[in-house]
Amino acid sequence: METTARTRRGKKSDYRMRTHLIHGNFESKRWDYDHHVIPPISSSTTFRLSSVERAARGFSEFPSAVLDPGVKHPIYVYDRYDEPTRGMLEENLAYAEGGDCAVAFSSGMAAISAALGIHISAGDHILAHRMLYGGTHNLLRLWMPRFRVAVDYCDLLHPTQLRKLIAPRTRVVYFETPINPTMELIDISAVRKVVDEFNSKRPPDRHISTIVDNTFATPFCQRPLQLGADLVVHSLTKNIGGFGTDMGGVVIGGTPFYVPLMQYRRDFGGVLSPKAAWAFLVYGLPTLAARIVNQQKTAMRVAEFLKSHPKIARVVYPGLDCFPQRDLARRQMVSYDGKFAPGHMLYFVLKGDHETARKAADGFANHVAQFSYCMTLAVSLGQIKTLVEIPFSMTHSGLSAEEKLQTGTDPGGIRISFGLEDWHDIIEDIRTALDHIC
Ligand SMILES: *Cc1c(COP(=O)(O)O)cnc(C)c1O
Repeated sequence: METTARTRRGKKSDYRMRTHLIHGNFESKRWDYDHHVIPPISSSTTFRLSSVERAARGFSEFPSAVLDPGVKHPIYVYDRYDEPTRGMLEENLAYAEGGDCAVAFSSGMAAISAALGIHISAGDHILAHRMLYGGTHNLLRLWMPRFRVAVDYCDLLHPTQLRKLIAPRTRVVYFETPINPTMELIDISAVRKVVDEFNSKRPPDRHISTIVDNTFATPFCQRPLQLGADLVVHSLTKNIGGFGTDMGGVVIGGTPFYVPLMQYRRDFGGVLSPKAAWAFLVYGLPTLAARIVNQQKTAMRVAEFLKSHPKIARVVYPGLDCFPQRDLARRQMVSYDGKFAPGHMLYFVLKGDHETARKAADGFANHVAQFSYCMTLAVSLGQIKTLVEIPFSMTHSGLSAEEKLQTGTDPGGIRISFGLEDWHDIIEDIRTALDHIC
């Protein structure tokens, strides 16, 4: 008898996550691809409807039809509503992150806008950690005031501070961990504990949601939903995508968020293109574990090398024993099989007063840009190529010098996102660039 996907799937729970990331759901009601080794890419903005009645059902059932994809075939009507390739990616992203559902967007920022957008009305209040990805920072500073949504910033390295800042109209507590670029960690369960003190006194429709941007860690290294987050957002553009070819974003969480997120996406329109979804589904997610395991090894080796370098004041990598939040790192950043997973991002600071250090960091970056073979001066992160950037003069230049200093974005700071090159070569390129700065 031929083994069908269904009989093989009966044993799915026997396999480890690294295997699941490669094989995904194996069988999806979204598309019959039992006989494909690679899921098909679909590219159809509109769908043939066999009758007016079926069309009417498609509209009226949206977006509830796919909540249990194992049971019901969704009726596809139009790409911006729902579409099979993106749907298959969403099933697998939800599974990887340990959520009930995932909704994919055209970029990380579209996903973050939606995660916030479904919570807020004029008069509401958002609390965010004071240090955020630049795009998120712009979204909160530039646009929220125009919607009459108040934003306050707090230091979530001390979660009990929230008690003083949560207001009756607070709807969201928002942060990233590890924090960009300083690699400090926010204790997700500690934040949730404080938020729960307030939620226990509120009706469910006024609950405060804890939203975590998990882009830096990826679900391989950290699963915030299990630690108490209500929603996780990702820029798929980074290490889930992994190859730097496509932009995307996703929001993952519990079932109650599915309908509002799908409606928000339908109406604001920031939908992930099926062609980009296919790349994440076929190349990105299946290789995530293999890439991170190797990137982490490199990060650890480079961290050890930098630690004893005479031109370096400090190295911040969660994998190092001298990492200031060592215990939290070991508790919070673990892979699917329970191993410590400190990730692929590293930050280090050059010695010297502000002006000397800033010149040295810029000198390092310019040397990398001109002479390095295996490191590239570029923003973004999470690719198979090692990327170097200077937060103080590049990604975080929108902040005032005072804000940068307050938040630990040092003038001499350098951020590295490790790729898959041989770690010996990366160390040699770093050593050469360090030799050339005064
Ligand atoms: C890149 C990034 C984003 C934004 O994602 P885009 O895909 O560029 O819109 C959000 N958060 C973090 C931490 C990021 O690194």
